[in-house]
Amino acid sequence: MSAKVTDVRVAAYTVPTDAPEGDGTLTWDRTTIVVVHAHGGGQVGTGYTYAPRAAVTVIDDLLAPVVMGSDALEVEGTWQAMVRAIRNAGRHGLVGMAISAVDIALWDLAARILDKPLTALWTDPATQRTPGDSADAAFPPDAVEIYGSGGFTTYDDRQLRRQLARWLELGCDKVKIKIAEDWGSHRERDLDRTRVAQQVVGDHATVFVDANGGYTIEQACGVGDFLDTLGVTWFEEPVSSEDHEGLSIVRDRVRADVAAGEYAADLADCLHLAPHVDCLQIDATRCGGYTEWRRIASHPTLTEIELSGHCAPHITLPAAATTARLRHLEYFHDHERIERLLFDGCPDPVGGTLRSADGPGHGLTLRATDAEGYRVA
Ligand SMILES: [Mg+2]
Repeated sequence: MSAKVTDVRVAAYTVPTDAPEGDGTLTWDRTTIVVVHAHGGGQVGTGYTYAPRAAVTVIDDLLAPVVMGSDALEVEGTWQAMVRAIRNAGRHGLVGMAISAVDIALWDLAARILDKPLTALWTDPATQRTPGDSADAAFPPDAVEIYGSGGFTTYDDRQLRRQLARWLELGCDKVKIKIAEDWGSHRERDLDRTRVAQQVVGDHATVFVDANGGYTIEQACGVGDFLDTLGVTWFEEPVSSEDHEGLSIVRDRVRADVAAGEYAADLADCLHLAPHVDCLQIDATRCGGYTEWRRIASHPTLTEIELSGHCAPHITLPAAATTARLRHLEYFHDHERIERLLFDGCPDPVGGTLRSADGPGHGLTLRATDAEGYRVA
């Protein structure tokens, strides 16, 4: 079977949040999703990333010319061509997001042409291309464990309690809130909100916190001591994820697991970061798409560390479901809401898990008419 990629279309949609949102180091009231459609072989593949709309220009100018006319069933080769084409623009940040969206669309297209779910494509020995990926008998699991994520610093206690209660209703036994409000300048409120979260979830769930790099090393160690007494088990980005030594210091000091990785733009970033964290986070919509996710997940140097999927839960699901040593997938409030608003095919969480689509590809399709009102590019 052969098919060429005949068209690449990209659009951006900006969706207002349902309430002001913020973490330790940023606040926002809208989120932009950049959606790619790749055509070929009578099928259409869909990919997306959460990025500024400038990613549309990167895709139109730098990536689409490389992808057009490529073999629709040789995604990894096209991915290599994209990475070569952006050499002067740089691989990190916006460009990595753009590559991710295109790569995901290409994988979805290939799976739809072959009429297989992506999870089957990646675990079928006949089509699996990454050595070692299906070597672990423990996967693919029936479903991927999710944790509820949000708990923004901009929420009052009523909003926080309501969101936590919803995650419990979805069966989540892990919930994550943001702390380090305003660059760590409201320590008592951080701890009070963590206590509120503990009270709400009780014995039903474990509380995770994410500082988004908002603390100094000294602040993070001090807050970490309190988090340990509160039973918090996950302390994400206690300091900047660029401060590898700082992550190691906090990790040695606190009992909670230290996690980071959401800004890793490629395998090399993950290899540098992994020795300094207890769990490595990967974002399929930032790291270079499914292709780079799978290279990271199967790399022999990373076989000791557990992985966690960061954000964009529905599009990450097939990659997560076929990853050995996956701890969980982040069910991020902002993204799960946008994905449900704009896409058909988002599964409902059952018992704190998400189950991958049985149909071809990743199973998501844009509801173009609904999306049109949010279109910005
Ligand atoms: Mg985070």
